[in-house]
Amino acid sequence: MNHIHHLVNGAAVEATSGRTSAVYNPATGVQTGELGLASVADVDTAVASSKAAFNEWSQQSLARRTKLMYKFRNLVDENAGEIAARLTAEHGKVLSDAMGEVARGLENIEYACGIAELLKGDYSSNASTGVDVYTIRQPLGVVAGITPFNFPAMVPLWTIPNAIAAGNTYILKPSERDPSAPMFIAELFHEAGFPDGVLNVLHGDKVAVDGLLAHPDVAGISFVGSTPIAKYIYETGTANGKRVQALGGAKNHMIVLPDADIGLAADAAVSAAYGSAGERCMAISVLVTVGDVADPLLDAIKRRMAKLKVGDGTDPESEMGPLITREHRDRVADYIEQGRGAGASVVVDGREQPFDGDGFFLAPTLIDNVTTDMSVYQDEIFGPVLSVVRTDSYSDAVKLIHDNQWGNGTAIFTRDGGAARRFQEEVEAGMVGINVPIPVPVGYHSFGGWNDSLFGDTTMYGPEGVKFFTRPKVITSRWPDPGTSSVDLGFPRNQ
Ligand code: NAD
Repeated sequence: MNHIHHLVNGAAVEATSGRTSAVYNPATGVQTGELGLASVADVDTAVASSKAAFNEWSQQSLARRTKLMYKFRNLVDENAGEIAARLTAEHGKVLSDAMGEVARGLENIEYACGIAELLKGDYSSNASTGVDVYTIRQPLGVVAGITPFNFPAMVPLWTIPNAIAAGNTYILKPSERDPSAPMFIAELFHEAGFPDGVLNVLHGDKVAVDGLLAHPDVAGISFVGSTPIAKYIYETGTANGKRVQALGGAKNHMIVLPDADIGLAADAAVSAAYGSAGERCMAISVLVTVGDVADPLLDAIKRRMAKLKVGDGTDPESEMGPLITREHRDRVADYIEQGRGAGASVVVDGREQPFDGDGFFLAPTLIDNVTTDMSVYQDEIFGPVLSVVRTDSYSDAVKLIHDNQWGNGTAIFTRDGGAARRFQEEVEAGMVGINVPIPVPVGYHSFGGWNDSLFGDTTMYGPEGVKFFTRPKVITSRWPDPGTSSVDLGFPRNQ
């Protein structure tokens, strides 16, 4: 069995708490690893290492930082297959999804390779006679990233490259469910030649997170996970004087107008609802039909669902893998029962599909006639369950999104540019897709939702990420005209 330890100061370090957590292959249900969980003393060791590394790292030239970041980028690219294999082995997502995850992570390293351009600052010459004003951006110090199970490679890469390229040192506390991919990425980071202590990895649970939140030498916390924990992290971290960005959960709605291309909308709904077993914060979990589009659209979705192959993610034929744990699978299955009990129509019931073995599988489920008072509508299920709410008008559909507690992503399917334009202007969500179901921004824009999907005022990666990991310093300088100094510059000027 794989024993996973911390990575501190470039070396494997055993956890001292005596507590462990099991890691499973969700496709087989077999335990494959054991993770040592951090104690408060382990947090102190990691922070001390990061603090010591900061002094030297923050002084490195932009040229050196860029060179190392390029090397890291190339190593991640060359090892994409191995990273993807680790993702599939512990998360369960199919290999093609896992390769997609690595590709989206790489975008963020590539963005950070441009750190010299990104940190350029600004300059106002001669604001007053002999006075210049300029801004430089400096790193915060030691920062920490706390990440969820569903994108164990991509989400750490949302912040590690920008934070470190900007001169910070970084402690990663990955999800305890699937730690092998982020560990491997951290090893590649060291192989690229970054100094020891610039990136430390600390495994753990609430003890590790609370230790980081309380530690006086941690200046910033970047969190991605569920809404209750995001809120807790934001409130506790800011109360302790830290800069915090905390991305939370979601319940993303996709509106389909009567004029939409049914085939395109059905393809989008199936891939966005069931890809990665619905365990994506940008998954579509509510399909909002407007007018008479519902029946033909649901027929098209059902035809596609019948062909969707669920199985072990290592099988190239599989299009959807298992859920992360047995308990989570059972919780999702229970939501289907709750929906049925509340009067919704379970049109395709994933519980009816049998699976051999002990994997944590649940086939895709489609629930029609869902209303806003039902738990299947109100809660983030985070599984392969698509709820359908039928509405009569565009405004009824948009009102659903506005009344919802979250505002991560949303999408509209229509052939009407005017309707799409109005939607993008008025919808309450941070990321909007127009005939695109999962509008995850590219690495040179930034990622983040609204309302209970984001606590803090800075979204993640791209320009906002660089802003989060640096603080501006404005310098106002006066240099008397050289005519008054002892240096003879050959006056008068410009001759
Ligand atoms: P989670 O909130 O359970 O865990 C996230 C991290 O917080 C993990 O590292 C975990 O160890 C830690 N943690 C868990 N409980 C804690 C506690 N009580 N105190 C302190 N730390 C704690 O989330 P998850 O189940 O790993 O991931 C799924 C959730 O993440 C979903 O809600 C999903 O929507 C959300 N998510 C959001 C985004 C986004 O960008 N908004 C992206 C990915 C996932």
